[in-house]
This record gives sequence, C-alpha cells and structure tokens, in this order.
Amino acid sequence: MLKRFIKRLLGQQSNNNMATRVTRIAVTDHGVTRERISPCALQVTDTLQQQGYSAFVVGGAVRDLLIGAKPKDFDVVTNATPEQIRQLFRRAHIIGRRFRLVHVLCGNETIEVSTFRANAHDGDERPTDDNGRILRDNVFGNQASDAERRDFTINALYYDPGSQEIWDYCGGFTDVRNKTIRMIGDPATRYREDPVRMLRGARFAAKLEFHIDPMTRAPIAELTDLLDNVPSARLFDEMLKLLLSGHAQRAIHQLRAEGLHRGCLPMLDNLLEQESSAQFIAAALHNTDQRVQAGKPVSPAFLFACLLWHPLQIVWQQRMDDGETEQNALFAAMEHTLEQHRSQIAIPRRMDGNIKEIWSLQPRFAQRSAGKALRLVTHPRFRAGYDFLLLRADADSSLRPLSDWWTSFYEADDALRANLAAGLTEPMPTKKRRRRKKPTVTPVAAEPVNE
Ligand code: ATP
Ligand code: MG
Repeated sequence: MLKRFIKRLLGQQSNNNMATRVTRIAVTDHGVTRERISPCALQVTDTLQQQGYSAFVVGGAVRDLLIGAKPKDFDVVTNATPEQIRQLFRRAHIIGRRFRLVHVLCGNETIEVSTFRANAHDGDERPTDDNGRILRDNVFGNQASDAERRDFTINALYYDPGSQEIWDYCGGFTDVRNKTIRMIGDPATRYREDPVRMLRGARFAAKLEFHIDPMTRAPIAELTDLLDNVPSARLFDEMLKLLLSGHAQRAIHQLRAEGLHRGCLPMLDNLLEQESSAQFIAAALHNTDQRVQAGKPVSPAFLFACLLWHPLQIVWQQRMDDGETEQNALFAAMEHTLEQHRSQIAIPRRMDGNIKEIWSLQPRFAQRSAGKALRLVTHPRFRAGYDFLLLRADADSSLRPLSDWWTSFYEADDALRANLAAGLTEPMPTKKRRRRKKPTVTPVAAEPVNE
C-alpha cells in the first residue's frame, strides 16, 4: 500500500503532464469543425453517442487537423466494449488477439474503433520483460487512463464530433501550438515499456516539423540498445511508416541525430556513412518523398531494393572476383543479401520476388542488342527496373547516357523504337567482359555494378 502510494507520489512529481484533470476546449478556440471529420468516422461516433456511449475521434487525426494537415485515417475510441460496438454496425468485425478492437467499414473506408484502455499505474501491473518492455496491454479502462497510456501529449487529444469540443488530459493542445513533442509520463520509463516510441518521436518530429522537448529527448541516447529487443516484424512496420511518411529524408536525419539509426536501421548505418552509397540512398529517399507528397503510390519492395542495392553489389562483385559468372554471382548475392538483412529487419518474404526482379533487370539494361532491348521494354516489371535505373543515374552521372538512351527508347513509338534498337550493335561491356582488349563501340558506356 505504502509502496504504491510513494510510487504514485514520485510518479506524479516527475510527470506533471499525467492525466489528472481534463481541459475541454471549445470549437471557437481550436477551430476544428465537425465537417473536417470523415463521414464514416462521424457515422461511427454519432451512432455510438445516440446509444448513450461516449465516442471520440482520437490520436493522429486530431493532431493533424489542428495543424491543418489531412489525417491519414480516423481512429475512434469509446467506452463501449468490442461486442457492444460490433452489434451497432452492419459491416463490423472484431480483430486482434492481444487487444480486441473493431473495424467498422463504410464504402472503402475502415474506421478502427477501440475501447478505452487502462494505464500502467492502476495497481494491476502489466507483464514486462527484463528491460521493462510491456508484453501484454489488454485491460479496459476509462478515458483518463486511456489518455495516459498513449505516447505523446499531441497524440492524446480527443475530439467529440457531437459537441465539437477537444478533451485534453495531458496538455497536448498547448504542445501542438508550440510544436513540441512531449512524452506523457516519465520518458525513460515509457521508452522502456515500448522502445519503438523512440522511433515514433523521431518520425513525428520529421513529419510535423516539431521539436522534441529536451526532457523527452534526454534519455534516448542511453536507451537506443533497447531496440534490439523489439521483434523485427514490429521494427519493419515502424521503419516502413517512416520511409513512407513523405518525409523520409528528414526522418532519417532526425534518427541519426538521436543516434537511433544504429538500432533500427542497421543497414543504413554504414550506407549513409559511405559517400558512394549515401548519394544513391539520398536520391532514393528524395524520390520516395516526392512521390508520397504527390499522392503517387510507392512500392515498399522498390524502396528495399534501393536500400539494399549497395550491400548486394559488394557481394555480387566479390563472387564475380572469385570467378562466378555475372548471372550466377547476382543470384547468389541476392539470396545472401536478403537473408542477411532479414534478421535485423523482417522484410517479408513475399517482397523478395519483386526486389529480386528489380535488381536482376539492372544488368540487362546494359546488355543492349536490338532483340534484347525490344524484349526488355515489354517485361512486366520494366517500369520498376527502369525507375531504379533512373535513380542510379541520379546518383552516378556516368550512368546518365545509359538512362537517357532508355528514356528515349521507352518514350518512343514503335517505328522510332525499331530505329533506336537498330542503332545498337553488340552488348555493352560489363564488368565480366572488362578484360576484353577492345570493347565494342556503342552509344553509351555503363558499368552495371559500380555505382
Ligand atoms: P500517423 O499519422 O502516423 O498514423 P498516429 O498518431 O495516428 O500517427 P498510429 O500509429 O496510427 O499513430 O497510432 C494511433 C494512436 O495510438 C497514437 O496517436 C497514439 O495515441 C497511440 N499509440 C500508437 N502507438 C503507440 C505506442 N507505441 N505507445 C503509446 N501509444 C501509442
Ligand atoms: Mg494513425
């Protein structure tokens, strides 16, 4: 009893943003009107409220609306249980084993509806591993406890579409105004509970152009090793969110500033330090950011093909130096590279095929004979391989004549293509053929394995 009382007392001293009181902010003060909420989310909150439950839009959507950004999705939280929620909607199903929540579908939108959860300080301790990482987190709670178990104050704002009020338990509204990322509760404890929060902080800082509060930042340097204990599939998910955030370049810069790139992005660690690969990765991330910001699709496989391109080339070259043919060396190097990195980042095996295809098309761009060029341009994955070649040329100007030739060829009509193809004679010199005395003269010169 006494121990718990002291613990709470100490906890509250250091955690002045704990969810003790709620501040209700009127629409006249925050400016987010109900029309800004998606119709599907409104239907969910309205239905729940009509049945007498409380229901709020919560998390990233409220934060994004406050800064005038378009939310990625709308999450709803309520005091109704998953079964009670499901009964109210025609197209709704309960998902999740660890913590059950409900997906409500309308049109092609899905709203994730969860029940208020309890926090770590309610006496009922949650099981943790030796480092304090929470292993299970599945207790229902009330709205105040739900706010307290969220990560950052800016992510713990609740919007009531009925009254258009924002309910703020942790000071998130002021933090949004001041562009501050502040951990709820004691930062070190919260990172220990879930080390991924360190990555989330860096991601939000980059995405929102907010700064990380000094107290929230301070413990990170000492805790980065905790990321080693995070299941690799979870790291993969988080890394993908970061890479596809539209601000990957800035986010990676932020991670490096926090010393986090070693723990979460081991593959980026060396790559970004070597000038040759850093340029290629910078070009890849820049391209990805531009595509995401323009609302164009980005394939995760393409992104990982980029990130692993340099490690692949090292192994590929080594094998060729050991006497393997270019083709055999490439196939062995692809297997090796993917396996080697899978232990750190759980790149799903279903992506392997696409990644390998992009890679294996690269030497084919340099083998230019009329027949091969005409066949390659109709390859189902030509576009991905060609985009990849453009990126390589962005980072290495010696590849530009090759990529320019392919651009003209790709954009040409049939007659012009035939003409261009006819202008090609022998295959291009490649590493393997480098020892030839006199390379064939062709319109462009390229080395497929030397970025
Ligand atoms: P995004 O715009 O990237 O979707 P988000 O804030 O909505 O940002 P989500 O991962 O969708 O992030 O999570 C929704 C909400 O759940 C968060 O706003 C936060 O309140 C809570 N949350 C998510 N992950 C954690 C975590 N690791 N620890 C505590 N709370 C979390
Ligand atoms: Mg979200």
